[in-house]
Amino acid sequence: MKQSEMLLPTLKETPADAEIKSHQLLVRAGYIRQIASGIYSFLPIGKRILRKVEDVVREEMEKIGAHEMMMPALQPSELWKESSRWSTFGSELMRIDDRNNREFALGATHEEVITSIVRDEIKSYKRLPLLVFQIQNKFRDEARPRFGLLRGREFLMKDAYSFDDSFESLDKSYDKMFQAYTNIFTRLGLNFRAVIADSGAMGGKDTHEFMVLSEVGEDVIAYSDTSQYAANIEMAPVIREYKKSGDEPKEMSKVETPEQRTMKDVADFLGHELKEGLKAIMFKVDERFVMAVTRGDHEVNDVKLKNLYSAGIVELASEADTKRLMGTGFGSLGPVGVSEEVEVVADFAVEALQNVSCGANEDGFHLRNVTPGIDFQPSQYADLRFIEEGDPSPDGQGTIKFARGIEVGHVFKLGTFYAEHMNAQFLDDQGKAQTMVMGSYGIGVSRTLAALVEQNHDDRGITWPANIAPFQVHLLSMNPKKAEQADLADKLNAQLEEAGIEVLYDDRKERAGVKFADSDLIGIPLRITVGKRAADGIVELKERVSGEQQEIEASQVIEQVK
Ligand code: ATP
Ligand code: MG
Ligand code: MG
Ligand code: MG
Repeated sequence: MKQSEMLLPTLKETPADAEIKSHQLLVRAGYIRQIASGIYSFLPIGKRILRKVEDVVREEMEKIGAHEMMMPALQPSELWKESSRWSTFGSELMRIDDRNNREFALGATHEEVITSIVRDEIKSYKRLPLLVFQIQNKFRDEARPRFGLLRGREFLMKDAYSFDDSFESLDKSYDKMFQAYTNIFTRLGLNFRAVIADSGAMGGKDTHEFMVLSEVGEDVIAYSDTSQYAANIEMAPVIREYKKSGDEPKEMSKVETPEQRTMKDVADFLGHELKEGLKAIMFKVDERFVMAVTRGDHEVNDVKLKNLYSAGIVELASEADTKRLMGTGFGSLGPVGVSEEVEVVADFAVEALQNVSCGANEDGFHLRNVTPGIDFQPSQYADLRFIEEGDPSPDGQGTIKFARGIEVGHVFKLGTFYAEHMNAQFLDDQGKAQTMVMGSYGIGVSRTLAALVEQNHDDRGITWPANIAPFQVHLLSMNPKKAEQADLADKLNAQLEEAGIEVLYDDRKERAGVKFADSDLIGIPLRITVGKRAADGIVELKERVSGEQQEIEASQVIEQVK
């Protein structure tokens, strides 16, 4: 492919708004361009690499018997009302009206659509289990889109869904997916860990996140230095708490009557239980209630937190945490993330907030238990200690370490939530109607691309691993004005293409320095330079990562490259 004919605009300067390497490099090297906050175009080379990642995902999905389909991004609100998520998904769901004022959502995820299809089409246990997937743009009106492809408002996701006739069978579908995810991220050459994630219920065995280890990750994981144990930090205190007491969580139904308190009461109520200098603060931002739990000697007040929030230093809770707290008839509430100035202990907040929801109306502030099946007993937090680096771990092996992670994948046992709400039933072998048991499985394809760049770059640019690089070879003619260089480079380009090798051919009339710099920036694994020695039939071969270079005869290029 001739670079002179391609839309591949490179930039010398780092874009001012790009804080992290993947964002900077993908823009500078001409892979992506921003259209609006959190919304990106993939330029031709960006689209190529996206497709490489997609292909790995697609192959591993097909290997486990999942079939690709495609569902609409535009979804009628009726479906979301059936599942109850029209009200619980909150402002992250993009909503639009058609010309007849019918409400639609832009798909943030597709549980509703797939459940509506399967309930209509699958009636017998004989047709289960069923695994389907799609690779398609998702829309989420993120509170703070940032970090380029890492947190977009329109992004590419692979989402898969499983339908089974029992929980045992769901376990098998889940295990298959788990293995496929492990294969995908291994094939992509990523340094990752599958971690126990927060399912909103104790135990946490029913959901895992796949985390790419990276300093820019927004999640913190706690892992053992000697065993396989790894958990999202949100889960870690929970595990510790129950290990310590040896207690199983108690069964208890929802508290039906909300206890009325003032906003200050709630903060005091939680604050009172937070020994060891912990403080809870609540404040209201854009109709949302936000709670921060802090520890240490920090001087914290709501004004300060509000300022920090406005300045973008602290952030709202993850979507999942917030989601869990919504749909309770009250406002939403979430803990605050990490800041430099205020050490915010989000993991505690998550734990506490799984069990309480707050909201305000004319007559004050309400607090109630919202997590079915779990008893909220403030006293259980009285002697809570946070896991610290070097502590023994939860599985009895090794000591705890912390790392930051980028959530690139998430596997989740949904159980019967959607099937019940949307009435997805099948007849079992006795002819009896049963509810389908579901799982859902996501991979952020565009986010994975950014994660790959975070783990594969140097001072000069991107360093793609060979198996997903947009091209295998970058062919440069140093001075295309010289006939012998242009002719040899043209010939090599044709030969490489003939041999089925993906080659990007820099035939541009640019200075050598510009070409070399662009080539390093773009990051193709192998570079072939046709320069001064073209007349002797000699070219230079250089590996992008190691920097190793050698002169070879042009006639040996194909052999060397293959
Ligand atoms: P996060 O905690 O980062 O907000 P999530 O838990 O809300 O992600 P899921 O609902 O689990 O996301 O979606 C499946 C996958 O989609 C995630 O594991 C992630 O890789 C990707 N993803 C989610 N939100 C975004 C986004 N705003 N931009 C890019 N990728 C995303
Ligand atoms: Mg989210
Ligand atoms: Mg998440
Ligand atoms: Mg998730």
